[in-house]
Amino acid sequence: MDLNLSEEQKLVQETARDFARKTVLPRASEIEESKAVPKDLWLEMGRLGLLGVAIPKEYGGIEAGFLASAIVMEELSYASAGLTLSYGAHSFLCAHNLYSASSDEQRKKYLPKLCSGEWIGAFALTEPGSGSDAASLQTTAVLKGNEYILNGTKIFITNGSVADVIFLLARVRRGSGKTRLSAFIIEKGFPGFSVSKDIPKLGTRGSPLSELVFQDCRAPKENLAGEEGKGLSYMLNGLDMERAVFSGMPVGIAQAAFDYASRYALARRQFGQSISGFEMIQEMLAQMATEIEAARLLTYQAAWRLDQGLEVSKYASFAKLFGAQMVSRATQAAVQILGGYGFTKEFPVERYFRDAVLIGIGGGTSQIQQLIIAREILKEARLR
Ligand SMILES: Cc1cc2nc3c(=O)[nH]c(=O)nc-3n(C[C@H](O)[C@H](O)[C@H](O)COP(=O)(O)OP(=O)(O)OC[C@H]3O[C@@H](n4cnc5c(N)ncnc54)[C@H](O)[C@@H]3O)c2cc1C
Repeated sequence: MDLNLSEEQKLVQETARDFARKTVLPRASEIEESKAVPKDLWLEMGRLGLLGVAIPKEYGGIEAGFLASAIVMEELSYASAGLTLSYGAHSFLCAHNLYSASSDEQRKKYLPKLCSGEWIGAFALTEPGSGSDAASLQTTAVLKGNEYILNGTKIFITNGSVADVIFLLARVRRGSGKTRLSAFIIEKGFPGFSVSKDIPKLGTRGSPLSELVFQDCRAPKENLAGEEGKGLSYMLNGLDMERAVFSGMPVGIAQAAFDYASRYALARRQFGQSISGFEMIQEMLAQMATEIEAARLLTYQAAWRLDQGLEVSKYASFAKLFGAQMVSRATQAAVQILGGYGFTKEFPVERYFRDAVLIGIGGGTSQIQQLIIAREILKEARLR
């Protein structure tokens, strides 16, 4: 792996960094309070090409790949993890999964508007009875004439209440025979679709989280994405991609916490000197900096492997697992370095600390990443 970024990747990084630090950061508290996707920022991200980083140009994207995508996740998370979660659900879980599964006609219908920001996307996999065991989902789709009739409930859907388009996994039932996991493109106006509740949460509050209900929801037959019965492979490939790209998120949150805490340590004086002179403070800062760099390299490696078309599951799980552990430690250390001030809403580190918790849960918990890693390393050990 070449550790130098290409000119294109550097340009995407600079664009995302400039936007995140000049436009998003000053509004981070407002985004947190609003619990909504700010439409003006969304359209600006579309204009900058950030909403379609890994989508081919012919469908409205900039075709810069997954490493560039992970870098955008990192840069945006530095400013607002809430906005970044909505961004990731839209650009990768909805738009990119739709791109991977769909026909040319479907791509042309949905992707340009998702890439421009005119539409907001969501991804609906999780159900009240199936989280880690996602493949056991129970939402059904039955073909009647020219429509699929969908029934079921989806929970913890980022952007669910504001989405125009939802990439959804359901089981197609034909007669009394076996069901086949399949993907659908659902539009918010389809009859029988409703948002049953918005769910308040601990962190990433700037991003709406909802429960969705499908009650005899009618989707045109053409809204089956790809082929009936291919849902499991769309889901597994999508989860690998999600874990690699979203691993930029803990890196960005932890970098923001580190930068804040190190500036604070230099400025804060106790016992007649800067607290940055105390070795126990230095130990925390050195540990944070080292682990952030390690998480960044694991993330870049996983995203780079995706770009190269190499096997990625184990590497994506390495990045996600370590990123989750690292960001919890780093944000807690940042709170500690700020002392009592770190515990208050007056300073942003308490937000970083709350935002960090999601990383070990969403897109597959840390325990699930450990299971995947163990499965892969034991498979390799058997071959040795
Ligand atoms: C803020 C937020 C945003 C989200 N956004 C989306 C979204 O946009 N779309 C979507 O579809 N989903 C989304 N999710 C859902 C998320 O992916 C699930 O919450 C996650 O996969 C875990 O599922 P669960 O919550 O049902 O927990 P469970 O699966 O019930 O897990 C509970 C506990 O049991 C452990 N556990 C489970 N199985 C095993 C096992 N085999 N071995 C050891 N331990 C195990 C878990 O690690 C966890 O500690 C979101 C969740 C959150 C919190």
